[in-house]
Amino acid sequence: MNYRVDPTFKTDLKKFGLQSWNDCFHCGNCTAMCPLSEDSFMFPRRAIRNMQMGLKQKLVSSIDPWLCYYCGECSDTCPRDANPGEVMMTLRRYLTSIYDWTGLSRKFYTSKAWELGAILLLGGLIVLAFAIFWPSISPELTSDGGVRINSIIPLRWVEYGDWAMAIIVAFLLLSNLFRMYIKIVHGAEAVKVPFFLYFKEAWRLIFHFSTQWSFSKCDGKKYWLWHWLLMSGYTIMFIIIVVFLPWFQTEEIYDPWHPQRLLGYYASFGLLFGLIAVIIGRLRKNKAKFKFTHVSDWLFIIMLLLTVLTGIFVHIFRLAGMPLATYYLYVAHLAILVPMIMIEVPFSKWSHLAYRPFAIYFANLKKAALKLQEKPGINFATT
Ligand code: SF4
Ligand code: SF4
Repeated sequence: MNYRVDPTFKTDLKKFGLQSWNDCFHCGNCTAMCPLSEDSFMFPRRAIRNMQMGLKQKLVSSIDPWLCYYCGECSDTCPRDANPGEVMMTLRRYLTSIYDWTGLSRKFYTSKAWELGAILLLGGLIVLAFAIFWPSISPELTSDGGVRINSIIPLRWVEYGDWAMAIIVAFLLLSNLFRMYIKIVHGAEAVKVPFFLYFKEAWRLIFHFSTQWSFSKCDGKKYWLWHWLLMSGYTIMFIIIVVFLPWFQTEEIYDPWHPQRLLGYYASFGLLFGLIAVIIGRLRKNKAKFKFTHVSDWLFIIMLLLTVLTGIFVHIFRLAGMPLATYYLYVAHLAILVPMIMIEVPFSKWSHLAYRPFAIYFANLKKAALKLQEKPGINFATT
């Protein structure tokens, strides 16, 4: 297949955080160092070469950037300080914007005003809705009688809101994943995949999403642990609020060892621990993976941290029997949670949690299909 060189590609990538495009002189050190690189596969160097040559079409149909977990081992040892880990990170931001058909991802990644504006707008709408409807739905709110969490807003309404949010986010994410699939499996180096392989290889999706297994191959196991704690805490909390909210948000306060509270504590701990570790790393900048932080990284971290902290303090104020503090903080919690999910999950930083396991799935689909066709010559990393 012939590829056209796009001379504007590198300039475009700079909007997504690319620091420098021509430092790499292809010594191959990063390929030798990377724990995820496989035999006869130029990972991560192939993506860097394609980027340098302006082969945008080839990169857009490539899985490579998603296979990198940004452990930073390649960047630590690059003799040219080309920071290959950060190049892969930039390519992931760019690819996220390519998969997104709404164009919003590109706006959010390339403009602080757009991302901040969208967050403030959504959060402001939540506060405004409460300001308008609150007195009529909860006239007895400030009256004496202890903390009644579901008197702030009927639980049914919150549940409907959660479902609406989940449907919108799932639609956006799945449609973008479909576009990713078309570009990777049917784009450049297209492979015909037999139908049964989609099922045969499906276990990889669940396995890689739930374990982040490839990340565990990197030397710094603590980074894998932080990432896994964050991911598992986020996933558990998301499932609880979307599927099991009536079980989770009860007026009755159960014993500390009740599964409802234990799950909530685990999710909060996982999120808080992972976030604090990441924030300390990014402030200290003593590792290659933390030296450069894109504005979208900070926004995601801050939004998630505020969501977790407001959730924890709602719980503490509730236990302490402080109704007004609980109610106002609950509104603030929703005003941060909603934009965090609506913007970060389909359009920004969070989406890598979905794209990465799917990339590994697509890579293995192509590999298995090629093996069936006995078509040598194309190498994929499938870590
Ligand atoms: S990114 Fe650095 S280590 Fe990798 S090939 Fe280029 S110069 Fe060598
Ligand atoms: S950051 Fe780590 S996983 Fe990514 S390419 Fe470099 S060595 Fe490999």
